[in-house]
Amino acid sequence: MPRYHAPVKDTLFVLDAVAGLHDHADVPGFAALTPDLVEAVLTEGGKFCGEVLAPLNLPGDRQGCTRHPDGSVTTPDGFRDAYAQFCEGGWGGLIADEHHGGQGLPYVMGAVLQEYIGAANMAFGMYPGLSEGAQAAIEVVGSPEQKAKWLPPMVHGRWTGTMNLTEPHCGTDLGLIRTRAEPLSNDSYAITGTKIFISAGEHDLAENIIHLVLAKTPGAPDNVKGISLFLVPKFLVNDDGSLGARNGVSCGSIEHKMGIHANATCVMNYDGATGYLLGEENKGLAAMFIMMNAARLGVGIQGLSQADAAYQNAVDYAKGRLQGRSLTGAKNPEGKADPIIVHPDVRRMLMDARAYTEGMRALVLWSAIRVDLARKSPDAAAREMADDLISLLTPVIKGYGTDRGYEVATNCQQVLGGHGYIAEWGMDQFVRDARIAMIYEGTNGIQALDLVGRKLGAKGGRGTQAWLALVGSDLGAATDDRLAFITAPLSTALGDVQAGIMWLLQNGMANPDHAGAGATAFMRMMGHVALGHMWLKMADASLAALDAGTADPDFHQAKLTTARFFAARVLPETSGLRAQLEAGADTVMALPAEMF
Ligand SMILES: Cc1cc2nc3c(=O)[nH]c(=O)nc-3n(C[C@H](O)[C@H](O)[C@H](O)COP(=O)(O)OP(=O)(O)OC[C@H]3O[C@@H](n4cnc5c(N)ncnc54)[C@H](O)[C@@H]3O)c2cc1C
Repeated sequence: MPRYHAPVKDTLFVLDAVAGLHDHADVPGFAALTPDLVEAVLTEGGKFCGEVLAPLNLPGDRQGCTRHPDGSVTTPDGFRDAYAQFCEGGWGGLIADEHHGGQGLPYVMGAVLQEYIGAANMAFGMYPGLSEGAQAAIEVVGSPEQKAKWLPPMVHGRWTGTMNLTEPHCGTDLGLIRTRAEPLSNDSYAITGTKIFISAGEHDLAENIIHLVLAKTPGAPDNVKGISLFLVPKFLVNDDGSLGARNGVSCGSIEHKMGIHANATCVMNYDGATGYLLGEENKGLAAMFIMMNAARLGVGIQGLSQADAAYQNAVDYAKGRLQGRSLTGAKNPEGKADPIIVHPDVRRMLMDARAYTEGMRALVLWSAIRVDLARKSPDAAAREMADDLISLLTPVIKGYGTDRGYEVATNCQQVLGGHGYIAEWGMDQFVRDARIAMIYEGTNGIQALDLVGRKLGAKGGRGTQAWLALVGSDLGAATDDRLAFITAPLSTALGDVQAGIMWLLQNGMANPDHAGAGATAFMRMMGHVALGHMWLKMADASLAALDAGTADPDFHQAKLTTARFFAARVLPETSGLRAQLEAGADTVMALPAEMF
C-alpha cells in the first residue's frame, strides 16, 4: 500500500525563505500567521492527509463511485466519514471569508493544504476543491443576498459546489454551448440541457450540491458573448435556509474513466431546473473565469501532488529493492546485490522528481502569495504587480506543472520496474490520476496558447516585463561565486526565453500558426526558467543558512545538491526548446490533412 508523508519541513522552508510569508504583515490575514501557527496548521493538516485520506486512496480507486437506479451516487467506503472529519476540522473553510463562517487565512495556506490533500487522495480533494472554485465565483459576482444565502453552508462543507461548462459537442469552444435558460416570472430561470464530465456532480458527502452552470438566455448571441452563469441547486432552498423540493437536475450516468475513480464524473441532465442568474446576463464566461483561474492553480497543484506522492513511494522502493551491483563497486557487500538507488539511471529519475517537486512547490507557494497580494495588499502598486505576475504564471503553473507532474509520476513508476505496473503497488494510480490534470480546466495545449497568445502581451506586456525584470534582478543580486553553478545556466535560459518572446513577436503576428506550433515548447521553456528562479532563491537561502550555522545542515546541503542537478540537467533543455519554437509551423503544418 503506498504511503504519504506531508513534506511539512520543506513547505516551512519555502514559505519562509522563498515565498516571503513573514514579509507581508501589512496584508490583512498575514500578521496572524505566526511561525508557530503556520507550523501547527501544516502539521495537523499533514497528519489528517497522511492518516485519514491517504489510506483511502488506493481502495477508493479500486471501488470507485456507484450510481444507483434513482440517480443517486455513493462514494467509496470511508469517504463519507473522512469528509465529515474534514468539515469538523474546519479544513474546508480555512481560507474562506470570516463573514461566511471561514477562518479567513491567506490563500497561500489553502494552497499548501491543496497539495497535501491532492497527494494523499486526489479524487477526494476534488469534492472540496470544486466547491472552493464555485464559492470564489459566488463571492465575486453574487449579490449580497446570494452570498448570504449560499456561501455559509458551502464554506462549512454541508453543501458542495460544481462547475458545469462542458457539453457533449463542446469542451474547449464554449461558444457552442446549447444549454438554455428561460426566464420565469419570479426572477429565476428554467435551465434545460445536458452537461457532461461534471466532477463531483452527484455524491453522498453533502446535503446539497450547488451547480454553477453556463447557459444561454433567449435571444443571446450564439457565441461566447451570449453565455450567462446560473446557480442551480440540487435541492431548492427555503428562505429560512432549510432544504426544499428536489430541483430538476439529476445525474444521468457516471463516466468510466482512466483515473480519479473515487471522484464521480457525471453526466448532468437539466430538465427545466430552477436556476438563479449570477452576475450580469451574457457575462457568464468572465464570471466562470474567476472560478477557472483559481481552479487552474489548483490543477497545477495536482500535478505537484501526484509527482510528490509517486516520488515518496519510488524512494522507499529504490532503497529496499536489491538488484545488480553499483558500477563503482559494491555498496552492500554483505548482500547479494545493491539497492537500486545506487544506479545512476535510477538516481536520474529520482533526482528529476525531487528537483521538480521541490521547485514546483516553491513556484506554487511563491505564486500563491502573489494571489494574496493581488487581492489584499493595501498598496495599489503591489496589488497591480502581483496581479500581473499571477496572470502570467497561471497557465505555466497549470500547463507546465501538470505536464511535468505526469512525467515525474511515470518516471517514478519506472523506478519500480515491473512492480510499478502491478496494481498492488499503487504507482499506476498516481500516473492515471496525474493524467487528467493535463486535460481538464483547459487542456495544456490551450494553456500554452493562452500564454503566448494572451498573457505575454497582456496590458502591453507589463506582466511579462515585470517577471523578466524580477528574474534578472535576482540573478544580478546573486553575486556569491558559490551560486555561479546556477546563475550561469539560468542567465542563458532566461536569454532563451527573451529570444523566444522576440521570435514570437516577430513571427507570431505574421503567421499565427507559428505561435500555435511553438506554444508548448515556449511554455516548457518558461516553466524551466520559473523553476530555475525558485532554485536560485532556495540555493541562496540554503547557503545563508549554512553560513549562519543552521541546526539542520543536511537539509540545506541536499537543497544545494538538488539545485545543482536542476541547473546542470534541466535548465540546458531551454536551448533545444528554443530551436523547436524557432523552427516555426512549416514542418508541423506542411502535410495536408488528408495525408494523415
Ligand atoms: C475526468 C474529467 C473531469 C472533468 N471535469 C469537468 C468539470 O467538472 N466541469 C466541466 O465543465 N468540464 C469538466 N471536464 C471537461 C474538460 O474540461 C474538457 O474535457 C476539456 O476542457 C477539453 O474539452 P474536450 O474534451 O471537449 O476536448 P476538445 O475541446 O474537443 O479538444 C480536443 C483536442 O483539441 C485541442 N484543441 C481544441 N481546440 C483547440 C484550439 N482552438 N487550438 C488548439 N488546440 C485545440 C485540445 O487541446 C485537445 O487536445 C472534465 C473532463 C474529464 C475527462
